[in-house]
Amino acid sequence: MNAVMQTYGRIPIAFERGEGAYLISTDGERYLDGAGGIAVVSMGHSHPQLVAALTEQAQRLWHVSNLYEIPEQSRYAERLTAACFADAAFFCNSGAEAMEGAIKLARKYHAVNGAGERYRAVTLEGSFHGRTLATLGAAQNPKHLDGFGPPADGFDIVPPNNLNALRAAIGPQTAAIIAEPLQGEGGIRPLENEYFQALRATADEFGVLLVLDEIQTGFGRTGKLFAHEWAGITPDIMACAKGIAGGFPCGAVLATERVAAAMSPGTHGSTFGGNPLAMAVANATLDILLEDGFLADVERIGALLGDGLVALTERYPEIIESVRGSGLMLGLVVRAPHTNGDLGNRAREHGLLTVVAGENVLRLLPPLIIREPEVEVVLAALDSACAALKSNGDG
Ligand SMILES: *Cc1c(COP(=O)(O)O)cnc(C)c1O
Repeated sequence: MNAVMQTYGRIPIAFERGEGAYLISTDGERYLDGAGGIAVVSMGHSHPQLVAALTEQAQRLWHVSNLYEIPEQSRYAERLTAACFADAAFFCNSGAEAMEGAIKLARKYHAVNGAGERYRAVTLEGSFHGRTLATLGAAQNPKHLDGFGPPADGFDIVPPNNLNALRAAIGPQTAAIIAEPLQGEGGIRPLENEYFQALRATADEFGVLLVLDEIQTGFGRTGKLFAHEWAGITPDIMACAKGIAGGFPCGAVLATERVAAAMSPGTHGSTFGGNPLAMAVANATLDILLEDGFLADVERIGALLGDGLVALTERYPEIIESVRGSGLMLGLVVRAPHTNGDLGNRAREHGLLTVVAGENVLRLLPPLIIREPEVEVVLAALDSACAALKSNGDG
């Protein structure tokens, strides 16, 4: 049998190297990476500042464990918390692990404040929070849970953008409301602005915590450092990963002082979390994100790409139904009988990599460093892909 466990349906292409927004395959084909390793490679491939930070650290020190002070970790935590709502950070290695930490922190906060019965969370349909048992229980996607036993207890799921349903689900055992500001895997499904703001007000009204999963939306993806900034609200706890260190595995749980104070030595941990290599790259990534005008450029280029996608929708209404998303987190809603997979395959034949999502959506999550020329390449490839689908009449 294949020595790699078959958990993925892989596209039979391997890459030899990456340069900025482009990937070069082992057979010499050049692709524009419109998926960015699923919203991870935000600074593009082989960014010189990231390569320098990683190699410099690699020559000095790789790992010491969290038994000791890690100056790179303290420095990164200070800089990151200064740039957002949070006062403290915990570091781990992936998105699911960050969500696990966020869920544990919400529970612990109530426990140390005399309300240990508050351990449940209200979550939203269509969410994705990771593949661990607790995060599968949180999202309650039947496809992801199939065969893995009863879903983890402690989650009450409601349809998004319905405040009555949310309010009705909050009870004396509720610790938190958990939401993605813009659902990624679910199909680039945004929360309505008023509903998003009401999540904050509702959490306050019932004395529960607001936990945001910004694993995909964070670190500049939507044109702000974090997507919740668009709504003018802040969470109590936020989970991050994906774009945090441009492709080096890293995750973070961020929280306000009041909430983070619930954690004391021995309550949570990770062997690799916040190790010097990850922190060196995370610091270098943050340097770039915080450069003057970087996020404004993401917003501008995202709007340009979005406008081009809308024009494509108008040219191929029989293939594309609509465009949704914000910044450089965009989705094409593909019209049946065509599928997101068909359109993605055709785009790849024209040199563009994309990634599918729920609700028949084809996602674009390109590196945040793309500019006008790359936008033109993306749009031309999608135009050719739509034309090919149309002339073939295949679904
Ligand atoms: C990718 C993702 C996760 C899971 O991250 P992993 O690093 O794969 O564990 C969780 N939540 C959201 C919103 C994601 O996009």
